[in-house]
Amino acid sequence: MKIVILGGGESGVGAALLAKSKGYEVFLSDKGVLSDKYKETLEQHGIPYEEGQHNEEFILDADEIIKSPGIPDKVELIKKLKSLRKPIISEIEFAARYTKAKIVAITGSNGKTTTTLLTYHILKNAGLNVGLAGNVGESFAKQVIDDTFDYFVLELSSFQLDNCFNFKADVAILLNITPDHLDRYDYSFQKYIESKFRVLQNMTASDDFIYFQESEALAKELNEKTFPVNPLPVSIQAPVSQGGAVVDGILSVHYKNDSFSIATERLPIKGTHNGINAACAILAAKSLGISNEKIEEGLLTFKSVEHRLEPAGIINGVNFVNDSKATNVDSVFYALGSFDTPIILIMGGVDKGNDYSQIEELVKDKVKALVCMGKDNHKLFDFFGKKVPLIFDTNNIKDAVKLGLDLGNEGDVVLLSPACASFDLFKNYEDRGRQFKQAVAELANTTA
Ligand code: ADP
Repeated sequence: MKIVILGGGESGVGAALLAKSKGYEVFLSDKGVLSDKYKETLEQHGIPYEEGQHNEEFILDADEIIKSPGIPDKVELIKKLKSLRKPIISEIEFAARYTKAKIVAITGSNGKTTTTLLTYHILKNAGLNVGLAGNVGESFAKQVIDDTFDYFVLELSSFQLDNCFNFKADVAILLNITPDHLDRYDYSFQKYIESKFRVLQNMTASDDFIYFQESEALAKELNEKTFPVNPLPVSIQAPVSQGGAVVDGILSVHYKNDSFSIATERLPIKGTHNGINAACAILAAKSLGISNEKIEEGLLTFKSVEHRLEPAGIINGVNFVNDSKATNVDSVFYALGSFDTPIILIMGGVDKGNDYSQIEELVKDKVKALVCMGKDNHKLFDFFGKKVPLIFDTNNIKDAVKLGLDLGNEGDVVLLSPACASFDLFKNYEDRGRQFKQAVAELANTTA
């Protein structure tokens, strides 16, 4: 049996190691360049590979293909493989075959990483023998080679779910669905919704499904179709009898005959969206039988995640916040909702077809100045020009931070929450977030 792996990143190399350890004939092919670290690993394990090209003859001869989530179905090679009816699976599907661990699978358009890390932290802190994988950290496949964990918390993107078929989660969390990545779904929002719902595949009526019920697209899909799962909704409007709610500053959860509640102001992660994320994580913990005491301990010791509403420093009472990971409009919506103080908002970058009307009211309400930071800011100027008291144009993060300090009064927030991708001025969103923090630190030094 011959397995070909397309894409040599963390998940591809992990899949290669797992396939090799299970005795398959393995070949890894990447059209781009492989990092030295991964090449070394492959060589050490005697796994043949190629880079900078795809050897079609060899690839088309494979019995099964494990495809990196980064490769779209549109590319010629994938089309050819499909026309030959070759099975194409994701690393998640492949790895799941080799683990007996119970799986908590987490997906959604926004909040995946935060909820995954929080769930993992609560479970680990409670003493479970739990692994973390999917879109975060080490590849799932690599971690099941010895299959030492009893539980896995997996962050799953729609691309990973697209090539899952027999994969089954024991507990699933679906945080929300808003338009994203539509270029990979023939510009059909419905296709993207269906992809997210694949997280429920193979689940049964006794398996817990945790979801945010006021996510419009999600609710609509649930309304129109039946899924054989045990529903545990989370609401920010009203308490629920089974599930979670974040209402009037109290997060409460009801699971079977058990309940848990905590004041949201005690949580280290702030904002309504994080209340939802926390409620989902708590429900998953309840589903696995974690005690209230351990849940509270886990919640209170969780550290906020880098680049997600991360405190970046205070200068003269002006509070700088790094939300560089907010690369779409929905996440900026929640970021703005997290503060009661006036906001100087730094937004901009590569616009992915954004519709800013979702945040129009919040911006009018809360933003005292908008700093547009990108190579081309005309779309932001056109939309917000007449809607905010002050608007500025820059393509430099140091200038943006300096403007924030100049415009800010004590207690104000300077929020980097761009709603856009970062490639026009930065390597990626992490680079943007780090440069922001560095600019704040430098400014703090010069004003001290
Ligand atoms: P993902 O892994 O899905 O990209 P992250 O946890 O990295 O999600 O958060 C990305 C951004 O989305 C953050 O900047 C945050 O402001 C926003 N966000 C987090 N949780 C939610 C949520 N439940 N709903 C909407 N936006 C959210």
